[in-house]
Amino acid sequence: MPEGDTVWYTARRLHEVLAGKPLTRTDFRVPRLATTDLAGRRALEAAPRGKHLLIRVEGGLTVHSHLGMEGAWRVSTPERPARGGAGPSHQIRAVLATAAGTATGYRLPLLELLRTDEEAAALGHLGPDLLGPDWDAPEALRRLLADPGRPLVEALLDQRNLAGIGNVYAAELCFLAAVSPWTPVGELPPHRLEKLVAAARNLLDANKDRLDRRTTQAAARTGPDRDRALWVYGRTGRPCHRCGTPVRTGRHGPPDSPRTAFYCPRCQPGPHP
Ligand SMILES: [Zn+2]
Repeated sequence: MPEGDTVWYTARRLHEVLAGKPLTRTDFRVPRLATTDLAGRRALEAAPRGKHLLIRVEGGLTVHSHLGMEGAWRVSTPERPARGGAGPSHQIRAVLATAAGTATGYRLPLLELLRTDEEAAALGHLGPDLLGPDWDAPEALRRLLADPGRPLVEALLDQRNLAGIGNVYAAELCFLAAVSPWTPVGELPPHRLEKLVAAARNLLDANKDRLDRRTTQAAARTGPDRDRALWVYGRTGRPCHRCGTPVRTGRHGPPDSPRTAFYCPRCQPGPHP
């Protein structure tokens, strides 16, 4: 699942083939960009912002995309051709090519063309970016505590508080903090919330250069045993790596778009559904 680390990694790959080079071909397969053609313009850079991806193009334009739950960009170069892409071709939403390579976006739930000077307005709602050069932990803490009764997992997922955390890190961070995901964020002692936010930055930073995300130390070098890579996310019914209790799931979020939280009922005391 794409989170801040995935977007950071993706932006870097896109930057390698696009930045500083004229676009030789663009193809946007969404209705409102169907007639947009950026060929001939120089691509300037690809930059991550939380879970958003910004490809800036000469002439003050920005291709803004979000990977949502299922989206992906794949890069192919003459030296490293993409094998099979990231899905069938009818799922392709965008293609940007330079002489150095081709970037293909699949299943992008958000794809739009902005004026670069409109980026701040479009993304101004985002809280401090966990992987951004302007990361501001005190501001993230202030925002997290603005609604102290909110369940921790929901506060962590709200990109207006801090940008970059998705379902995987939200679950893993609650486990590492040894509290139930439903604990009201304001009930966590300040030093523990501070530690949790620092852990969030460290985890995303540690994973931003690779695609096989890991949050456990034990999994750091154990090869293909994927079940060891995460503490609780996606591990329903399997034994907690710490205490052996089966990992459970519960719902949170608005009733019309509920999300699933993963937790160990023993290692993570507090309110459970
Ligand atoms: Zn446990």
